[in-house]
Amino acid sequence: MKVTEIFRSVQGEGIYTGKPAVFVRLAGCNLKCSWCDTRYSSWELTEFEEVQIDDLLSKIIEFDVGLVIFTGGEPCLQSKELITLCEKLKIYKVKIHIETNGTIFDNKLIKMIDFWSINPKLSSSTNQCGLVPFKIKIIKKIINKLPIDKYQLKFVISEDNMNQDIIEVEQIIKKSKMKHNANIIFQPEGTSTDIVHYSSKCANLAEILVINQMHYIMKQFSNARVLSQMHKFFWWNKRKI
Ligand code: SF4
Repeated sequence: MKVTEIFRSVQGEGIYTGKPAVFVRLAGCNLKCSWCDTRYSSWELTEFEEVQIDDLLSKIIEFDVGLVIFTGGEPCLQSKELITLCEKLKIYKVKIHIETNGTIFDNKLIKMIDFWSINPKLSSSTNQCGLVPFKIKIIKKIINKLPIDKYQLKFVISEDNMNQDIIEVEQIIKKSKMKHNANIIFQPEGTSTDIVHYSSKCANLAEILVINQMHYIMKQFSNARVLSQMHKFFWWNKRKI
């Protein structure tokens, strides 16, 4: 498999924030988000090595954590190999989470993953490879296969386009007929000059969605939240942690 990095840390995003986990960053992505903070593993793909499935399994087990999170890039691009790896991980009773942009559906992979973090990319991510950033049909297909507690929809909101991005999120939520107890996460994009800049983005987003006035989504969806990338406050942009 094409692997950029593997390390032990704590989950910094979404409803599992704070959970210890092994992160496996798989290389390559089918999108090109302008604010991507892992370009070395996505559209500039400067770092990766080929790792045999059994070697990757051994490394994950060696970290001695009961949770592995596959991230990227876009991990579903390697779904065939990922399914084989997941089958082996199940033998060790390791829980498996995935971070995906939600553009790829694989029925067999759906069943292998314990928690799906689906991160549809909005128009402001300025996809540059001719693909529509988010695909409602695929998002619907994925969430229709999953119980409500097995997924979250995480939307990265750009600094210069917050209001328009939130309108687009509303449209996605309506079109995908999201259940009203679905986990919906708003998170500001993370490419900031420093931690003060990043925290001001978090505050701006919370002000628009909650403080100034309760936004429709926050009122109607009982599990909608505004969250930051916690690891940025811990380690800023340090890698492999
Ligand atoms: S989908 Fe994720 S990994 Fe791919 S370019 Fe966008 S932010 Fe980067």
